[in-house]
Amino acid sequence: MTDPNCIFCKIAAGHIPSFKVFEDDVVFAFLDIGPLVTGHTLVIPKAHYPTVMETPPEVLSAINARIPALSRAVLAATGAKACHVLVNNGSEAMQSVDHLHYHILPRKPGDSFRIPWNAGTLDKASGSSLAESIKSELAR
Ligand code: 5GP
Ligand code: ZN
Repeated sequence: MTDPNCIFCKIAAGHIPSFKVFEDDVVFAFLDIGPLVTGHTLVIPKAHYPTVMETPPEVLSAINARIPALSRAVLAATGAKACHVLVNNGSEAMQSVDHLHYHILPRKPGDSFRIPWNAGTLDKASGSSLAESIKSELAR
């Protein structure tokens, strides 16, 4: 379950060096080479899955089981008290490496990191039809 052309598969296998912070049988965590903030950490499955949509629930469970301790450790090491845990799924969602990865991004008051969050307004009609459409997809 690895892709010979995938940079994160090579990092998880130790064929490309990284600043590793954690490893078990399923999960690998390491510092991002292009940090958006100090402490920017990536958490990946060792096996190659492109996005959450293809990843088996048990692999997601193994990653999620490690996220609290990893986040606490990143926060403690950087002196931050808050963080984003963020996954980009697909190129339109800003995914550039095609191997599932969770970003842990510690945040501090006054830091320069920004996520544009241009909230719209959900009206009753479109909310209702969209929720119905998602529910029927789930029931398929
Ligand atoms: P994405 O945009 O796909 O959600 O994030 C990919 C992340 O992987 C980026 O933050 C980028 O800096 C990081 N990255 C890409 N190549 C490497 C690498 O070779 N080593 C490490 N440590 N991080 C990488
Ligand atoms: Zn991979």
